[in-house]
Amino acid sequence: MSATGRPLTYRAVYSRFNRRVNPSGSSPQIRDLKTLQRTYETYQALGLSLNMQRGQPSDADLDLSNGLLSVVGPKDTVSPSGVELRNYGGGVAGLPEARALFAELLNTVPEGVIVGNNSSLELQSLTLMWALLRGLNGSPGPWRGSPKIIVSVPGYDRHFSLLQALGFALLSVKMTPEGPDVKAVQTLVQNESVKGLLFVPTYSNPTGDTTTQAVAQELATLKTAAPDFTIFADDAYRVHHLTPNHDTPPDLLAACAAAGHPHRAYVFGSTSKITFAGAGLGFMASSPANITYLSKLLGQQTIGPNKLEQYRHVKFLRDYPGGLRALMMAHARLIAPKFEAVDRVLTRELGASGLASWTKPKGGYFISLHTRAPVAARVVELAKGAGVALTPAGATYPDDDPTGSNIRLAPTRPSLAEIEQATEVIALCIELASAEHEARSD
Ligand code: PLP
Repeated sequence: MSATGRPLTYRAVYSRFNRRVNPSGSSPQIRDLKTLQRTYETYQALGLSLNMQRGQPSDADLDLSNGLLSVVGPKDTVSPSGVELRNYGGGVAGLPEARALFAELLNTVPEGVIVGNNSSLELQSLTLMWALLRGLNGSPGPWRGSPKIIVSVPGYDRHFSLLQALGFALLSVKMTPEGPDVKAVQTLVQNESVKGLLFVPTYSNPTGDTTTQAVAQELATLKTAAPDFTIFADDAYRVHHLTPNHDTPPDLLAACAAAGHPHRAYVFGSTSKITFAGAGLGFMASSPANITYLSKLLGQQTIGPNKLEQYRHVKFLRDYPGGLRALMMAHARLIAPKFEAVDRVLTRELGASGLASWTKPKGGYFISLHTRAPVAARVVELAKGAGVALTPAGATYPDDDPTGSNIRLAPTRPSLAEIEQATEVIALCIELASAEHEARSD
């Protein structure tokens, strides 16, 4: 903002920046539109093919779990708890050893856990589908009519598309550094058709924000018009710390129990970014009563999940030297330098220019960037034209990004060198798109 309160123009922001880095003003650093276009063309000529679009592990991350491929042998036909792994039986909620393992991860009891097959997103969708068809434990009935779900934004595009495919109307609240904007949630839940809130409590996709325990408590104590208002917490990045002074994941189950709403929260997770993506285990936790209720319904759909896969994971993760914590630290050693590289290159290229701001998360899989001007779609288009694939602009909002400025960066999969080059291209595209925007508004 300028002293007059009006937004600063690209040129004003840039010249202010240049005065700071170059007080003599001897070699101005403002790059005009033509120079930026020429630089962009030189990048185009490189014929790059880089991808910062989806949050996927790198091969080195996957290699950390290659032990999974051989940890189960011909002698592993019966689990220590006595469940025959090769046959039906053992129940729909998962192998006792797997329920115990993920109960520890989610800080709850095994009876409050379901371990499924390879996807937490699938468990979320099954829970939501049964809510629509039959209602959840304690619901007065199925979630008929025009049920609405609150989502935090910017958020995870697959949450939005799943909820919309199921017919939910979505209500957006801002994801703040402390969690979903509770005041906004409080207002929305006065309407009986608002049945739930879906968000990512730890290292949110894409902002990297972690919901505080204080916000978790406020959500747990909310007075809601719907008697079966439900918190769906997709805790996909609960153990994905990148720094030793990491965030502390909130305990929504404990907060809800303490607030006298023990059946309000469902927490989901998976090993997709712990072991193998899409070839790991999805799991969920809620009150034991909720889990018993849901297990009966899930038991109509399947006799049970893949117990051999579950046992493989139990053996691998229990035997991993130093346990899950050590495995996640090994991931952090691979991933943290990539996050640092994005920050380093953006700082070098855009620095205090004010053309963009971005998050520096302490964990998770994403960096969320906001351009100062509403040019996210143009930046993504320009980046594509220079061989850098980014998440489509607007994908982090249910319909479209009202700010036109949010871009999700996914730095986990490419190599460090690729990330540095891709981030240089992104920074240039931000400069160019901002200059174009400025030229249009001149
Ligand atoms: N939830 C969030 C927030 C994610 O970011 C992702 C993947 O990027 C998933 C769920 C997908 O998890 P799963 O592989 O367990 O279905």
